[in-house]
Amino acid sequence: MAASTPHPEADTDSVQAGPISLGIDIGGTKIEGVAIDGDKRLLACHRIPTRKGNQAVHDDTVTLIHHLLDPVGLNRGPVTVGLGIPGRVDANHGIVDDAVNLGIRHMALGPAVAKTTGLPVRVENDVNIAALGAASQADNTLIAPGTTPHSEAARDQARRSASEPGRDGPRALPDQGDHVVAFINLGTGLAAGIIREGRIEHGASGAIGEIGHISVDAHQFPCKCGQCGCLETVASGAAVETLWPGIAHPLPDLIAQASKGNQHAKEVQDIIGHGIALAVQIVALAIDPAVIILGGGMSKTGQPLLDLVTEHLNKSAACSHFIASLRLPDRLRLAPADLPIAAIGAALAGRMDADSRPSELIGKEIAS
Ligand SMILES: [Zn+2]
Repeated sequence: MAASTPHPEADTDSVQAGPISLGIDIGGTKIEGVAIDGDKRLLACHRIPTRKGNQAVHDDTVTLIHHLLDPVGLNRGPVTVGLGIPGRVDANHGIVDDAVNLGIRHMALGPAVAKTTGLPVRVENDVNIAALGAASQADNTLIAPGTTPHSEAARDQARRSASEPGRDGPRALPDQGDHVVAFINLGTGLAAGIIREGRIEHGASGAIGEIGHISVDAHQFPCKCGQCGCLETVASGAAVETLWPGIAHPLPDLIAQASKGNQHAKEVQDIIGHGIALAVQIVALAIDPAVIILGGGMSKTGQPLLDLVTEHLNKSAACSHFIASLRLPDRLRLAPADLPIAAIGAALAGRMDADSRPSELIGKEIAS
């Protein structure tokens, strides 16, 4: 077990308010957890290495829950738990299938953790919780005492932020209809999460946002899903590793080499930039979100990635008045690199509808 590592943003000096929400992001290499209070202040943060298999994932999740509750102290109110995990997730029943990197073929994760801890548990796909966490940041609604994602103050703040002038003039963000945020996860693979009015969209089968397997790229590289030309083959961490191999952090290196005039780097950078811009256009045209957040490991490249995608979006806009009118670059944001947004999103998901779940996902009292 790793030592307690309070996050720099953790608000450890204030008195906690309201119910405690624990959020745990179960990843392939680490399990990261946070505790936030009713005012959405970050109270504690822990991280432990991942062990594989159903039993290990259950045991480590429960251990992390107890570690997170320790520093929160005895004055806590009701506690909810949100878990994020890769694979196919049945959020209604807390069941995960095919979390390959975790060695899980099938697991009733939610019911198992609820039974052991006595706490209400919600399980969501990892991209969805990252989307929820990033969206809460885009709305400036986390760690802002007295503000909630659904409050009028938060909505007003989001609208004011959206209407601030961009580099190229006023932002063209919608001021009508639902408030929708899209999160494009540029991780090993490519997928999107959609947040509407502060809630995760799931679709009919849970496959919403699986844009990585839309087969539209002209290079027709083979994809692990069986198709050729999937967006994921040109717009993901795995794509960059394949097309620009042998470097620990290939995207920053690729962009740096291209800027120095390396012709091959320029060609590969064009493929990647075009692919991500295509992903942004697909999300924008299908969902029409007010904000599109680029997250996942590739987003840690920072401004150079944003500049690359913007360059390719502008290329499309240059030959299409329709695309230009959407002002897509103005909707783009980078996910914050200094916050555990997936764990934060898991905490926010965990507190939603905690009282209206199947009995196997509702705990009683935590064993103390
Ligand atoms: Zn595919």
